[in-house]
Amino acid sequence: MTSETPNWKVFLSDVSLDERELESTCAVLRSGWLSLGPRVAAFEKSFAELHRVPHAVAVSSGTSALHLALLALGIGPGDEVIQPAINFVAGANMTRAVGATPRFVDIVSADQPVSDMREVEAAINRHTKAIMVLHYGGYPAAIREIVELARQKNLAVIEDACHAPATFVDGCALGGWGDVGCFSFFPNKNMTTAEGGMAVTSRDDLAARIRTLRTHGMTSLTWDRHRGHASSYDVTESGYNYRLDEVRAALGIAQLTKLPQHNQRRAELTAQYRRELASCREVEIVFGNYTGAHAGHLFVILVPENLRHRVVEACRHNGIQTSLHYPCITGFTAYQEACRSCSLPRSEEFARRAITLPLHPKMTDENVKYVCQIVRQAVQQFS
Ligand SMILES: *Cc1c(COP(=O)(O)O)cnc(C)c1O
Repeated sequence: MTSETPNWKVFLSDVSLDERELESTCAVLRSGWLSLGPRVAAFEKSFAELHRVPHAVAVSSGTSALHLALLALGIGPGDEVIQPAINFVAGANMTRAVGATPRFVDIVSADQPVSDMREVEAAINRHTKAIMVLHYGGYPAAIREIVELARQKNLAVIEDACHAPATFVDGCALGGWGDVGCFSFFPNKNMTTAEGGMAVTSRDDLAARIRTLRTHGMTSLTWDRHRGHASSYDVTESGYNYRLDEVRAALGIAQLTKLPQHNQRRAELTAQYRRELASCREVEIVFGNYTGAHAGHLFVILVPENLRHRVVEACRHNGIQTSLHYPCITGFTAYQEACRSCSLPRSEEFARRAITLPLHPKMTDENVKYVCQIVRQAVQQFS
């Protein structure tokens, strides 16, 4: 193992910013109105329209969107939320933050790392209040089936759609199927506001509650008071400050206009990756046979367990960043004790074999060729 920092040639992810973002954020700074203003409202309106949902509420992060979704649905102590263990830890952490317990279920298979419907159904008990689903890498979970099951059992559905903005299944956006859909605009996502997030919902009651909880539980905002719409406010329940500001909203509006073309480019790069790796027997591609619409957030391969480290090192040595999305949550120190009796063999297999390869709209076809060449060499040399 060497400790020197490699000279990176292909980044795992990268942001695409140009004059549009510079202009629009500078305009906010020049205006002097930095928060609780018209740009957040405009960003929410555009996001809601693009996703064909009635309500979009901009928040400070994907994590705060998840937190507010759980709170707005009234989930709390004694409740269980069914969710996958192959996910970013935010969903599980926020489940605990409201006092509820994450109930982890296994994935369909290592090459389809989304909640297995049969496992979800088997995990339902009298404590279950909600099902949280992740559209892993921008590929849809069995959302129609999960929403149907939840309806039968009177459970809420929270979609962690952080990987899947502007992605439609049967005309309905991912994030728009369940009770609340949560999006993140962290810099490594398909669109960014630096930090930021969005909660979408079709339910008027949930939208109102999320809006109130976003700002301390207050009933009217500075902007309304500024316009003379309200002179005072009430606090109807204890809330938070999970607001997005005007600078980030301006960034979001600019990024949103590029999202469809960026997702398109991600899909093209994914198709090229699939072609380049098709003949490599040792490499399986996560969602490699999926032919429907997807957001192309991640490109993930599975290699034999004993080769994973060597492939990662070969990439690193050749200036290619890789990652693991994600380690199994039940293995983290904070979750180990509570998950001692969890049996998630497919999730664990996934975490031992998965490698996330670079994918972002600034990548060239040559970048993909290069990454695939290094990966192919590494697996063939060592297998
Ligand atoms: C990024 C991400 C989050 C958290 O979003 P933040 O904006 O970083 O708080 C949650 N879930 C998934 C799947 C994510 O990728």
